[in-house]
Amino acid sequence: MAIERRDLITAAAVALASPALVRGAGAQGALPGAAPAGQQAPGFFRFKIGDFTVTMVHDGAAPRPNPLQGFILNAEPAQVEAALREGALPTANLPNPFTVTFIDTGRGVVAFDAGTGGGQMAPGTGLLPRNLQAAGIDPAAVTLVAVSHFHGDHITGLTTRENAPFFPNAEVAVPATEWAFWSDESNAGRVPEGQRPTFANTKRRFGPYQAKMRQYRDGEEVAPGIRALAAYGHTPGHSVFHVTSGNDQLFVMADTSSRPDLFLRNPHWQSVFDVDGAMATETRKRLFGRIADERARFTAYHFNFPSNGYVTRMGDGFRFHPAEWTNLT
Ligand SMILES: [Zn+2]
Repeated sequence: MAIERRDLITAAAVALASPALVRGAGAQGALPGAAPAGQQAPGFFRFKIGDFTVTMVHDGAAPRPNPLQGFILNAEPAQVEAALREGALPTANLPNPFTVTFIDTGRGVVAFDAGTGGGQMAPGTGLLPRNLQAAGIDPAAVTLVAVSHFHGDHITGLTTRENAPFFPNAEVAVPATEWAFWSDESNAGRVPEGQRPTFANTKRRFGPYQAKMRQYRDGEEVAPGIRALAAYGHTPGHSVFHVTSGNDQLFVMADTSSRPDLFLRNPHWQSVFDVDGAMATETRKRLFGRIADERARFTAYHFNFPSNGYVTRMGDGFRFHPAEWTNLT
């Protein structure tokens, strides 16, 4: 039976008027940066790198209430505001998105970092378990978690609220330099105050994986076709990955740059989350310079979903191009 257009219009009007149907927006309504009302399509995105299958799985976003103050340490608020406006981004409640890269190599499934832990960190985060299910990836099928660094948004998802392993059959590979730093609480005086909880969280999240952990060094292969690259600065051992299959390549860049409109356009900007901002800048310029020159595809953790693409050089920085339908030839 055909549905009358008039009925559809009426239904839409009822939906708009009914508080019960918009409750998902939260009592305060749609804040800029808050999740849109209602259920979305599952947030996963797939592409191939050679024989490997890459799946980007979205884990939600947490708003930064005031990105103009105290976030970027060596830029004036007016400069930050101008960069946000140029990127058509909100200047208050700026969403910080989280997206985890998964790669099925045919010999195993590798997760690059672990997400925020099913909403353990902040409202608006924790979509990973549901989106993994939609993507057909069973956490029990993950064979390796390759960890870039130990900030909470990257390792909290290793375990549930009860601290049971979320990836029960996975090995965990961590940068040796990162492990040495965060497993030694005498380093607490060397990090910004907001990062002190990372010492306790390191102990807690890796605890259940103790028997299945290994440490990797710069240049080491963590799995066939997946090589670690030192990208120090954001944290003392922050590392990224160079993935190759056949003639194809991909860089998994973690937090070498968070939002491209800020830190790729202005690679010298230092974030309050960088343990060594000057070193983070050097790393960002060096690695994204290589990626631009090689016209290589990359994924990142804090870019807008689906969090992968290319860069070209622009002035002193870089311009980001989301991957699909990009032509760099
Ligand atoms: Zn991060």
